Parts: sequence; structure tokens; C-alpha cells
Amino acid sequence: MRTDLFTKTFKTRPYWADIAPEVPLPATDLPDEVDVLIVGAGYTGLNAALPAVREGLGTLVVDAEHPGWGCSLRNGGQLSTSIKPSFATLKSRYGEEIATNLCREAQASLDYMHALSKVDGIDMGLREVGRFHGAHKPHLYDKLAKDCDAGHPVWKTGAYMVPKAEMPAELGTEAYHGGIVYPRHCSIDVSRYHPSLLRMALRLGAMVKENCRVVSIERQGAGFKVRTSHGPVKAGKVILATNGYTGPVSPWHQRRIIPIGSYVIATEEVPEQLIDRLFPTDRVLSDTRKLVYYYRLSPDRKRVLFGGRVSLNETDPRNSAAQLHQDMCALFPELSGVRISHAWMGFVGYTFDTLAHCGEDDGLYFAGGYCGSGVGMASYLGMRIGRKVAGLEKSPSTFERIPFRSRPLYKGDPWFLAPSVMVYRMRDRVGI
Ligand SMILES: Cc1cc2nc3c(=O)[nH]c(=O)nc-3n(C[C@H](O)[C@H](O)[C@H](O)COP(=O)(O)OP(=O)(O)OC[C@H]3O[C@@H](n4cnc5c(N)ncnc54)[C@H](O)[C@@H]3O)c2cc1C
Repeated sequence: MRTDLFTKTFKTRPYWADIAPEVPLPATDLPDEVDVLIVGAGYTGLNAALPAVREGLGTLVVDAEHPGWGCSLRNGGQLSTSIKPSFATLKSRYGEEIATNLCREAQASLDYMHALSKVDGIDMGLREVGRFHGAHKPHLYDKLAKDCDAGHPVWKTGAYMVPKAEMPAELGTEAYHGGIVYPRHCSIDVSRYHPSLLRMALRLGAMVKENCRVVSIERQGAGFKVRTSHGPVKAGKVILATNGYTGPVSPWHQRRIIPIGSYVIATEEVPEQLIDRLFPTDRVLSDTRKLVYYYRLSPDRKRVLFGGRVSLNETDPRNSAAQLHQDMCALFPELSGVRISHAWMGFVGYTFDTLAHCGEDDGLYFAGGYCGSGVGMASYLGMRIGRKVAGLEKSPSTFERIPFRSRPLYKGDPWFLAPSVMVYRMRDRVGI
């Protein structure tokens, strides 16, 4: 491995966690009993807490680590309509009505983020910068153009094509054969969103306890007995908000969530002129690879944050950093002398149908499985499930109406990951 790749202060810690303001938690003993206990203090858990506390429910959010330790302070800060399958696929699986409503809710997740930012005053540095999605093979540009012409059957994306000849105004790389711009996609400042959300939950009266791992959830009377590393708590209702970190406390959910590592590097500060030449816009960026690269500038426009999946099996972020750097430089050779200041990874929660899910089983609530697109969707489905707990929902989310299936032999350990990554790599080489 090249030794000159890393800065002297290099950290295997998320860049966001390094610059995020610390939110002090009041030192509270664990209560004996609460109305609602939420497991996991990321976007899902905290957005679920807001409607619960607003309705006056005694709400305790516990996290095995510290709030935001999971993906909510590790992600790329790219905000889209958060739904992976195409409308045609959804329609063939579930019929037109459900497909349409899934897409409407995906759109609603984006609208919810705007509302959180503008109406509730959650500070997340939300900017509607648009997404450039590059075609890494010529025929994939044609496919993107066909989809763009057809438009989306449910919402107006306003998407438009950028041919190769116009690339210099979009992105300083020769690697793409043009691409598509989705103008409504946004970027957020990840270092500001989670702390601001946490502050809001605390201000409204949520109790938040860190380093408090839930070890079991047992039904007891009309509610639950939740055993934690700090002792037991009786809870009327429980929300599981553990997504990619879902463990054996709920084997049913563990069998349905596939934890897949995603890896990111942050570079040291790059000279302003080079940044302006390579990234003339502030868009969030991705491409047509199955093993997608996702990248962007840091909110202060000084660093490049570059993410992807580069190894067959999970690996140390230091190892993945070298490969990510190489891949970044294949797109932007001028960055080859730029060193890495941070490298980290996190577990995204995938599902077998590549859709998020939420639901309730007699007082045990859940939202998760965002398949790597959870900034908006975890926030939105967290809010929906919190409203449901608070008795505010008149009809269930469509994500609750679709079946949430596992596969035979899957118990939470994705043994099939390495061969799947290998197949995707081969498909990416030819663009299928
Ligand atoms: C590297 C990376 C890049 C990403 N980039 C993007 C992006 O650009 N755009 C996008 O939309 N999405 C992105 N995502 C996905 C997005 O970050 C997640 O979907 C989202 O943050 C999920 O939030 P969450 O609250 O459900 O889970 P998390 O934030 O992961 O929180 C789960 C919490 O549960 C806690 N927990 C687990 N078990 C227990 C237990 N037994 N007891 C107590 N606590 C427990 C964990 O400690 C953890 O803090 C990315 C993810 C990763 C890893």
C-alpha cells in the first residue's frame, strides 16, 4: 500500500463525526417504566421520537453506542427520492395502486426533509443542488436518455440529459459518456442534521440514553419488558430503529435486514482552483455502476468525499481507502497527489426486495431496510412510525402494506455477499 496516501492526522473516523458539534446529554437514570422505548438513536429513532413526545408520551431513546454512531453520522449526505426499483418493477410486483403510492411516499420523504428544515428549523444545510448521474458506458447514456424521455409515471423529475460534449461545465472528468441531471435531489450537511435533530428531541422532552444496549425484548402483559445493559425498563410500546445494525434482539427483523458495508474517504483540503475546475457545480454525484460510486464536495467545498463498495468481503477502512483513492483518481487523475484525511465505513441495511419497510406487530414497531438511501427515507418512515405509535395515523404507510420477506437459510449473516459483489463487478465491466 502507498504510504504517502494518508495525511499525518489521518483518522479511521467519519469526517462528519469529527466536525459535528457535541450535544451534551442530561445525566438521567433509566426510568422504570415508559410509554415508548425506541431502540437506536439515528434518523429513524429520533424522527420517531418527535411525534411521540409532542403527543405527551413518555419517550426513551436508547443507543448501544452514542446517538448518531450508526449510519446517521457516516453517510454521504445525498438526498433523493430514495426508491430503488423502477415503477415498472413495482407495478409488476404489487399492481398499479401500490406502485403509485410507494412512489408518492418516496416523493413525500423528500418533501418531509424540506419541511423539517424550513418549518421545524432543523439545521441540516439542505441545498437543492441536483444530482449528476454519469454513464460509465456509452450504451448506458442511451438508456438513461430513453428513461429521461419517457419521464416518471408518478412524479415530475425535471430530469435532463448532459451529453459528453457538455461535460466540462458539469464535471471535470473524461470518464463518463455524459449523464443525467435530477435537479430536485439535494445535499445536506451530515455533521449538522443529526445533532440538530437530537437537540430538538431533547428540547421537546425525549429522554436519550447512550451506551445502553438493549439485550432482549419480552412481551409482558399489554406491553414489554426491555432488558438493557443498564437494567430493565417496562415499555408500553417499542420501536426498533436499528436498521443496518439490527441484531439478535429481534431475530425476525434480523432475518430480513442484510447488513452491507459501504466505505467512504474524505480528502485533505484541495486547492480552490482545482476544486472549481473538477467540480464546477455543487451537485451530489453518482454513476451507472451497480457497485455505485457516490461522491460530492464537503459543505465548505474544500474536500472530496468519495464512497463506494470496493472489496468482496468487509475490510478495514484503511484498506478500502487505498482502493477508493485509486478509483477516485481513475475518474479525476488530477487528484492523485491529494491525500486522504479520513476513511470510514458503515453498514447499510439492505432488503431482499430492495425496498424499505415499516410496520407493527402488536406493539412492537419497526422501520428500516433503506438499502443505502436512508437520509430522507429513515427520517420519513421514522416520523410515520412515531405518528402511528402516538395514534396519529389514519391509514398505514404503503411501505407497511408490502410483504417483508426473508430467504431460506438467511439468519442475518450475508454469506452470499462476496459472490454477489464479484458478479456486479463483472457486470460493471461490460455495463449490464
Ligand atoms: C457509508 C454510508 C453512506 C451512506 N450514504 C447515504 C447517502 O448519501 N444518502 C442516503 O440517503 N443514505 C445514505 N446512507 C444510508 C443512511 O445513512 C441510513 O439509511 C440511515 O442513516 C439509517 O438511519 P437509522 O437511524 O435507521 O440507522 P443508524 O443511524 O444506523 O442507527 C441505528 C442505531 O441503532 C443502534 N443499535 C443497534 N442495536 C442496538 C441495541 N441492541 N440496543 C441499542 N441500540 C442499538 C446503533 O448503535 C445505531 O446507532 C449511507 C450509509 C452508509 C453506511
